Amino acid sequence: MDLRRLLAVVFGVLLTSVLAACGGGGGGGQGGPGGGPVRVVATYSILGDLVENVGGENVELTTLVGPNGDAHTFEPAPSDNARLSEAGVVFENGLGFETWLDDLYGSSGSEAERVVVTENVETLPVAEEEHGDEHAEEEAGHEEEGGHAGEEEEHGEYDPHVWHDPANAVVMVQEIRDALAEADPENAEAYERNAEEYVSELEDLDAEAREQVDTVPEDNRTLFTSHDTFGYFAERYGFEVDTALASVSTETGDPSAGETAELVEEIEASGVPAIFAENVSDPGVMEGIASEAGVELAPALYTDALGEPGSEGATYIRMVRYNVSTMSEALQ
Ligand SMILES: [Zn+2]
Repeated sequence: MDLRRLLAVVFGVLLTSVLAACGGGGGGGQGGPGGGPVRVVATYSILGDLVENVGGENVELTTLVGPNGDAHTFEPAPSDNARLSEAGVVFENGLGFETWLDDLYGSSGSEAERVVVTENVETLPVAEEEHGDEHAEEEAGHEEEGGHAGEEEEHGEYDPHVWHDPANAVVMVQEIRDALAEADPENAEAYERNAEEYVSELEDLDAEAREQVDTVPEDNRTLFTSHDTFGYFAERYGFEVDTALASVSTETGDPSAGETAELVEEIEASGVPAIFAENVSDPGVMEGIASEAGVELAPALYTDALGEPGSEGATYIRMVRYNVSTMSEALQ
């Protein structure tokens, strides 16, 4: 152990005893007013970054589903129980994104305030509901045969991927700001200030994105991805999302031969030069589809999770910037 780490440990022990001595608020070590930083949990990395930007040094953040992790298929570890039970506030996306959270929260015995950050976001229905009649019938039939009806209920009726529209990120940030101010009124001004600064960065990001997508020829503004995550992005920036793979989310595994054939056909018909893999799923499937359809497989986009620290998707802002430039270049 080098000296710095030793000092950090010693300091940590001292701090813990001091905090324990000052405690007695009955808060069960949840931090907050007079007890050090507020302990908060964010369910996934993108949300964690938004919380970090608002909370800054006044919060101690734990993120459950880390970089490149898939929240749809996440399986909590025992340590996640402890993280929840120690938290004062839990920030969650809601809209059926974290299907595992209710159980985890229940079993952890946590008394943390649960804050659904999409509460005031204008939601879109899940893509499946946007299918034409023909598709809907086909899928209904498919479900009866395959007996998948139960899975659909878990998806929820709204598309959870709200964060791909920076305007929604602003709404999420406001929710985070208000929840932190309530949990820790002493630092409410700091949260207010941080949120304001960050929102102005998000507005710049939006303007920048708009400028860049404007360079993509209208005919090429269709996104083919391995699961249906860009609905809100498409809505904001005038893209189409092809829903051929909408029913094949990361939860349900690889597409069937029939679904693959359908996708290849639609890619060929659309005339787009490229399709996209994602950081949260294996690119193998998309590689096969791209080569079959004779199009390029663009570098993977960051979709439901940030990238590792230092990567081009290390923060929410970097992720959006990277996604927009990757799409804009690939679809020229
Ligand atoms: Zn997703």
